[in-house]
Amino acid sequence: MERNSNSSPNGESSYRPNSIRRILCVFPRYAPSFGTFQYAYALIPRVNAFMPPQGLLVIAAYLPPEWEVRFVDENMHSAQAADYQWADVVFMSGMHVQRADIEAINRAAHRYDKLTVLGGASVSGCAEYYPEVDIVHVGELGDATDELIKYIDRHTQRPAKQLRFATVQRLALDQFPVPAYHLLDMSRYFLGSIQFSSGCPYQCEFCDIPELYGRRPRYKSPQQIEAELDTLVAAGVPGAIYFVDDNFIGNRKAARILLPHLVEWQRSRGYPVEFACEATLNIAQQSDILEMMRAANFTTVFCGVETPEPEALGAMRKEHNLRQPILDAVQMLNRYGLEVVAGIILGLDTDTDRTADNILAFIEQSHIPMLTINMLYALPRTPLYRRLERAGRLEQDLARVSNVRFKMPYEDVVQMWNRCISEAYDPDKLFRRFAYQAEMTFPNRLRPPRKATPAQVLFGLRILARVLWQEGRRADYRRVFWQHVGPLLRSGRIEDVIHIALVSHHLIRFSREAVQGNGEACFYADPNEVRQAAV
Ligand code: SF4
Repeated sequence: MERNSNSSPNGESSYRPNSIRRILCVFPRYAPSFGTFQYAYALIPRVNAFMPPQGLLVIAAYLPPEWEVRFVDENMHSAQAADYQWADVVFMSGMHVQRADIEAINRAAHRYDKLTVLGGASVSGCAEYYPEVDIVHVGELGDATDELIKYIDRHTQRPAKQLRFATVQRLALDQFPVPAYHLLDMSRYFLGSIQFSSGCPYQCEFCDIPELYGRRPRYKSPQQIEAELDTLVAAGVPGAIYFVDDNFIGNRKAARILLPHLVEWQRSRGYPVEFACEATLNIAQQSDILEMMRAANFTTVFCGVETPEPEALGAMRKEHNLRQPILDAVQMLNRYGLEVVAGIILGLDTDTDRTADNILAFIEQSHIPMLTINMLYALPRTPLYRRLERAGRLEQDLARVSNVRFKMPYEDVVQMWNRCISEAYDPDKLFRRFAYQAEMTFPNRLRPPRKATPAQVLFGLRILARVLWQEGRRADYRRVFWQHVGPLLRSGRIEDVIHIALVSHHLIRFSREAVQGNGEACFYADPNEVRQAAV
């Protein structure tokens, strides 16, 4: 259910509080993973976090303007004693993978006897994970948020037992305020982030998006997106902005309405950023959308390929990946200048001794440089979770990487994962795939004429200097680095060199750490329930 809210024209709550409150928003740390680029940060001056946390920034913007808000992203630095002492209430949000840090922040706030509130994806999916939090906010921004604000206006003492505010009527997305980007230093993020839509019409067995956010995607107006983009750029966002929508074409009609606005926004502002998004692979059949994405300077699309094995896609209810051969779809996206990033899942019921070979062959044939290769994890509020629960196949063993009792022996799945990431991110193989992209994909991009400011040129040179020192001089794979990146450098393709170098540096370092048991094998997993694979 959706409503046209109690929000003011600026999108914040129209409720006028009686008390002045100080709200400390704390966003928890991410565990290192393929998709968070931790190892690339050291190569970019000032950068030390992944993306601005959309959800908590929206809540911060929605709070009554009379209230003071302070924001700490723990991916940059931890909240300090002075922050907790200052606050009346501590707000947190996050995904399951951030659970351990959410709990740590909650304990820290309680040491100062502060009221704690937790919202976001993890608590909305499984509020039972958080018995120690004072108030849980379940669901999206909506009537529960209004009730929560009224409650905080009246109370700041910790309740005797946990309170629960659950959204029944969501705030329409076109009523959302511009996230409070001004509360954070955008120049310290690897990527900017923006949300256009919420929800997905599909029902992949392992995914909690349809149950959490609905099957009828809701979306913002193009004017909202333009205003948010202007705010992001003014706040110093880095050169790329990621649409965090779970499926950018969940509502194709809405995407078709938005894209001409993005094209015009870029053109009229001199193409200040590149865009990236997540979308289902059947986007490859929407040539008009792809043409507009190219014109709007989209350069990367994340697609949940999941597996190259057709019977596995059928079993997980991802038939929409079967509408055309996956390799053809990837090539089609490349023709529009889009580098594909693919999600792959291991540990499916359909996996066999041949699955790792099939995945590695797919990686080779598709030339996709970056793949997030994760082990299956059963998230609460998914058909998969319920099926495995009924079958008695949910594990609570803390020594395991996943909570799923696989059909294959656990050790075999872990070994398969180790083999896939070791071979996929062997430097020579990775740079060969990037060389293919440099030849077959990147030249298809718009490449708009851009007038770089002296500061931007200097910034690029500083990154280049770090890249050449770390990868061209110090890395044990420097020979393959020069073999594949040298020609691009000599032909002046500096942006391509920097992109390839940053991503490859992260992937090679992360995969090596992960094989040693220091990485996250299930990005969506709850770190309290899983420990590293060390087989
Ligand atoms: S995995 Fe992607 S396509 Fe499938 S339901 Fe989730 S968001 Fe939709």
